[in-house]
Amino acid sequence: MKFHPLFIALVSTLALSAQDHSHKSSRAITFPDVPGYKTLKTDLHQHTVFSDGNVWPTIRVMEALRDNLDVISLTEHIEYQPHKEDIPHPDRNRSYHLALQEAKNHDLLIIHGSEITRQAPMGHNNAVFIQDANKLLNENAEDSFAEAKKQGAFIFWNHPAWYAQSPQGTPILSDFQKERIKKGELNGIEVINTGDYAEESLALALENNLTIMGTSDIHGLIDWDYIEKGHDRPITLVFAKEKTAESLKDALFAGRTVAVFNSLLVGKKENLVPLLKACIEVEKAEYINKTSILEVTLKNVSSSDLIFENQMPYTFYSSSPVFTVPAGGTKTINIKTLEKKDGITLKLKALGAYVAPKEQPTIEWAIKVED
Ligand SMILES: [Zn+2]
Ligand SMILES: [Zn+2]
Repeated sequence: MKFHPLFIALVSTLALSAQDHSHKSSRAITFPDVPGYKTLKTDLHQHTVFSDGNVWPTIRVMEALRDNLDVISLTEHIEYQPHKEDIPHPDRNRSYHLALQEAKNHDLLIIHGSEITRQAPMGHNNAVFIQDANKLLNENAEDSFAEAKKQGAFIFWNHPAWYAQSPQGTPILSDFQKERIKKGELNGIEVINTGDYAEESLALALENNLTIMGTSDIHGLIDWDYIEKGHDRPITLVFAKEKTAESLKDALFAGRTVAVFNSLLVGKKENLVPLLKACIEVEKAEYINKTSILEVTLKNVSSSDLIFENQMPYTFYSSSPVFTVPAGGTKTINIKTLEKKDGITLKLKALGAYVAPKEQPTIEWAIKVED
């Protein structure tokens, strides 16, 4: 059926206004759930005027709603307070409470967090799921980590490859981190921060069983720092049993995450493979009339462009063995199966996805041929 463009415009306007109290925009970040888990879109590293950021906490909530996130945390530097003269706040929990208030009528989880900030070798670290940020304000970094753990926090190492602290742009795992890991006071590591991806940080995550994280570390506006530059903010997808703070925390401690920045996806194999598998749906699989060329249409239900390389024994009729299925879009490939089959196993390597440094996973989909 064909509709007049005006009719389509009218219907979509109606559909939009029917979504009551939604702030979702056209740039919504979307990922499918995976078997057994809900896929939560999180950004657990952000700043506001309550540390060295430039916006009020309410703006962070609105940005998250526009981006279709499920969870955020405002992780102010408790020690570094450049706006203190203008915005005095002896209570370091203030930013969290303002965000919580703003989010109260929305389906957005606000996790209480804080950044513990030191020079190298301690570096910057985020503690999320804390109870009281004031108690993390200590002279010794060791005391702050111990207190965060006492409060039940999940603690991750921020931008470990940051050149201001590590001039070669590679992370250095010092005795300080080794000790924290041993004591259960360091549970995760950012492999993507502000769009910087460090393979060495991924290696550290895998070697030390640290949860893989990606965050925006936003200080200005998401629109100016990411959207206008043609990017989505970096996020961490967390595979949780339910959309609750408790479930999220369990999943983070269990390491069920994938860090995402545009078409780059980084995660442990057991998390990344089911995600990629769920991102692609087979819309059509039919032989071209009187041939043994199978026409397959793939739909990408995620908001990341996905880049693949053919790994099947069969070659393609009319496209490069390397191709992109655009975010939210489709791609049709013509597979030369040499004889007609009832079904095939589609086997593609995900070139933008990493399960270890320089190692991309191969994903398989069972395709049933329509007749
Ligand atoms: Zn930092
Ligand atoms: Zn930060």
